[in-house]
Amino acid sequence: MASPATAAPRRTAIVTGSARGIGKAIALRLAQDGYSVCINDIAALADDINNVVNEINNSSSGTTRAIGVVADVTKASEVEAMIKQTVEQLGPLTLMVANAGIAQIKPLLDVTEADIDQVFDVNFKGVFNCYTLAAKQMIAQGDPQPAAGVGVYKIVGAASIVGFKAFATLGIYSASKWAVRGLTQALAMELAPHKITVNTYAPGIVGTNMWDQIDEALGKLHGRPKGESIKQYSQQLITLGRTSVPEDVAGLVGGFLASKDSDYVTGQTMLVDGGIIFN
Ligand code: NAD
Repeated sequence: MASPATAAPRRTAIVTGSARGIGKAIALRLAQDGYSVCINDIAALADDINNVVNEINNSSSGTTRAIGVVADVTKASEVEAMIKQTVEQLGPLTLMVANAGIAQIKPLLDVTEADIDQVFDVNFKGVFNCYTLAAKQMIAQGDPQPAAGVGVYKIVGAASIVGFKAFATLGIYSASKWAVRGLTQALAMELAPHKITVNTYAPGIVGTNMWDQIDEALGKLHGRPKGESIKQYSQQLITLGRTSVPEDVAGLVGGFLASKDSDYVTGQTMLVDGGIIFN
């Protein structure tokens, strides 16, 4: 018996905070694997956004392409406009990667309400905006097979090892990543009837701009020279014995969570940390 006709996949992703670091590596991997991609970041990184867009478009064979959109994920209206522009220019949205995040090093007894708002605005509310507004767009597109030739739509967010075991002086950041895990689990249950999966990735110690800032702050707090904190943490904590690179995370997110192979996975937070946390 002939199998029912299926449309060729037309896969489109938004990756927030993708002008650099882990987000950039994920976006490049998605483009390599056949996704059209919206590169997003804040206005201060507009030049870096353009560089990533050009890198993708200059190496594309023509079937996929990238656009750049400046948007602050803490503002629902900006996320909504970014989704609208992406769909208009690239096609139905099949993947949202809510990657943007900020770190904060502060002992909890020094933390102010403003500190909490700053971290939770980006790491929790930003992820919430991206998750829910992407979900509304996907639901409006209808069944993913006729709409885009894929079995399920996918929503993916950035958690962290500290969403499993908090680090001292990263208390508010850790709490924000636990919150992302909770949000992911609840949304996975609510969106399953719409053929949308929701998962998060939990990197360990990745050598990005974020860890440069963490290293500097830990250095000031503990009187260590530049580069010493990341070296010590990496040596003491990582089973595989090396600091992570963004491509390690892109392998899990682009290679698996964005692929057809993860269609039966939802509500999970997947560690990619070289063996810091064993679950
Ligand atoms: P990074 O600082 O290099 O990149 C984060 C990007 O997010 C930046 O380009 C930044 O401008 C952007 N961003 C920040 N606020 C934004 C906003 N309001 N709107 C849009 N973009 C915004 O950091 P990274 O290491 O690449 O981190 C990426 C994600 O991975 C973050 O969520 C982070 O918490 C998480 N993570 C990182 C590590 C690590 O070791 N680097 C470990 C675990 C989890």
